[in-house]
Amino acid sequence: MGTAAKENDKLNLVLFGPPGSGKGTQAAKLVDQYDLLHISTGDLFRYEMGNNTPLGLKAKEYMAKGDLVPDEVTIGMLKNKVVSNPGVKGYIFDGFPRTIPQAEALDTLLSEMGQAVSGLIALEVDDEEIVQRILNRGKSSGRPDDNDEEVIRKRISVYNAETSQVFDHYNKAGKSHKVPGVGSIEDIFEALCTLVDKL
Ligand code: ADP
Repeated sequence: MGTAAKENDKLNLVLFGPPGSGKGTQAAKLVDQYDLLHISTGDLFRYEMGNNTPLGLKAKEYMAKGDLVPDEVTIGMLKNKVVSNPGVKGYIFDGFPRTIPQAEALDTLLSEMGQAVSGLIALEVDDEEIVQRILNRGKSSGRPDDNDEEVIRKRISVYNAETSQVFDHYNKAGKSHKVPGVGSIEDIFEALCTLVDKL
């Protein structure tokens, strides 16, 4: 394992990319390969929504429209998940951070634990491919935000306007990387592993 992982003694990955770029699929495979804890803020929100918790009800208002859930809500939930799982070999953050304040909060949280983000990897997929993939996923995902083309396009525009800045945030520290998100799941996974092994 490379220097970044040695420094922190843990492997903390940010899996990045637009909605529908395959983060969830690849995160599941990376978890098996590197023995990490997968933290998906989208999954955490859907769990809360399924249980009709106050947090879930709050998140639902935003998610249904394709907007981001407010930072303070998202950051609080993320922190709980991280601090309640301290003994792991590292984390894969999927769908987080999506804004600069979220990235700063993550950096602070990890640094309080004597850790840091080892690397951010962006899966690159173009906008039209994404719309098709998400509409297709919507046929079976049961996610209302996957069934409405207008909501999907809103999510893509939020990604391009706001979330993409997170790439630059980690790029300043030389930690951002890109991998093509088009091709077979296995080929994309191999490209990810090649990169992670060098972190
Ligand atoms: P996708 O990446 O396919 O859009 P996710 O499951 O990651 O799906 O997220 C679904 C929705 O949950 C987002 O559109 C947003 O409303 C909300 N959400 C997820 N993560 C965050 C986050 N880090 N900050 C704010 N909102 C979030």
